[in-house]
Amino acid sequence: MGRTRTGARRHTHRYYKLEDGLWHCSLPDCTHYMPLNMPSNVMIGKASICWDCGQEFRMGEGNLEYNRPICFNCISGLKQRKIEDIDDILNERIREAKLKKQQEEREKRLNESV
Ligand SMILES: [Zn+2]
Ligand SMILES: [Zn+2]
Repeated sequence: MGRTRTGARRHTHRYYKLEDGLWHCSLPDCTHYMPLNMPSNVMIGKASICWDCGQEFRMGEGNLEYNRPICFNCISGLKQRKIEDIDDILNERIREAKLKKQQEEREKRLNESV
């Protein structure tokens, strides 16, 4: 029951890209993979399991940039984290610029008082 004669069960493949450049299903007992002679956009619109949250989602170009594709929610979560990093870098730059300016002004004042 539930099993076909070949032992294969229907499931959503959890795709990942191997060194051979092919998209394989990572689930145990599943030998499914996308042959190379398929058009490169064959993966777009396919259902896969997110490597981060485990939810099923349909893949688009953005997801396929990852060797272990994650869903849109997880990608936007990643981007959010990256933006916060950029903010930190910017704040650091601004702080350095302010310090430099303060130092320059102090030197100018010293020069004027001479
Ligand atoms: Zn599979
Ligand atoms: Zn996810």
